[in-house]
Amino acid sequence: MTGPGILFAATEPRWSDYEAPLRAALEAAGVTGYRLSPDLPAAEVDYIVYAPNSSVQDFSVFPRLKAVLNLWAGVENVAPNPTLTVPLARMVDEGLTRGMIEWVTGMVLRHHLGLDAVLARQSGDWLPVVPPLARNRPVGVLGLGALGKACAGALATLGFPVTGWSRSPKTIPGIATRHGEAGLAETLSGARILVLLLPLTGATRDLLDARTLALLPRGAVIVNPGRGPLIVDEDLIGALDSGQIGHATLDVFREEPLPRDHPFWAHPGVTVSPHVASETRADTASEVIAENVRRGEAGEPYLHLVDRGAGY
Ligand code: NDP
Repeated sequence: MTGPGILFAATEPRWSDYEAPLRAALEAAGVTGYRLSPDLPAAEVDYIVYAPNSSVQDFSVFPRLKAVLNLWAGVENVAPNPTLTVPLARMVDEGLTRGMIEWVTGMVLRHHLGLDAVLARQSGDWLPVVPPLARNRPVGVLGLGALGKACAGALATLGFPVTGWSRSPKTIPGIATRHGEAGLAETLSGARILVLLLPLTGATRDLLDARTLALLPRGAVIVNPGRGPLIVDEDLIGALDSGQIGHATLDVFREEPLPRDHPFWAHPGVTVSPHVASETRADTASEVIAENVRRGEAGEPYLHLVDRGAGY
């Protein structure tokens, strides 16, 4: 009996990086008789391993498609696709989570310890500036999902008082949690450093505009590895120019690559990072994909299903 047909429909990450880890993970998961290729006839495709840059845009051409397995955590490019009528799973991967914890804690500590000023003061002048302890620097984390919750926990372990905001109410040991409009205002008003780990949906687009940026304490720092359109660019520049926002470290942008003439590049209050906060790792991500293929074949519920109504 033949097993499932699995189409690798991504150009980035590369097939050459995924072929061996995917085969190893499928075999370890006990999936047998599978065909895995970047080039399968549409009639033989049961699963699509997907990324936003995929040439596949019309899912209706795959008559026996069972599920689309996204290699990225964010699904804003595929969730609204009207031709997609089968389950969509997104990536929750231990490697991705560890990478995000490292990037977020690194950026938060950079601002907390004033490392930019230390690096700029290598002039021979002895100018001791003692940073406050983390416990005196409240941090807000917008989004308490796989990544936001992990980063909030790591920051709390370092001693930062962390308040997190999500769509639904949550209880997380060591983290103050908020939800709803009033909860957003409360989270923002206390956050001297704000980390954005929200997905991009109709409800989160333009969340940080002139009105909400004004709720932050004066001089607050923004760290955004979530998605560019969570922030209104012009309003952020206005808030940086007025001193309302002290600095913005941005990993994601409305347009990527960020155009060379975008004002963020030249702004002294902005650090541009080229969407590298965290990457899906081929070895750990392949295990997630393989487990979902195994589940699909066994008739078990998929891991990390997207709620397409909510958009994430
Ligand atoms: P999850 O889906 O696990 O978590 C999303 C969180 O956001 C949840 O806590 C959810 O609330 C909350 N949320 C969603 N909509 C709203 C809303 N309208 N109001 C308040 N809270 C809301 O996502 P992940 O943690 O896995 O990933 C988050 C995002 O990080 C991704 O969507 C992607 O955009 C970005 N990312 C960036 C990378 C990079 O390299 N820069 C790498 C990977 C991801 P609730 O818990 O109630 O559902």
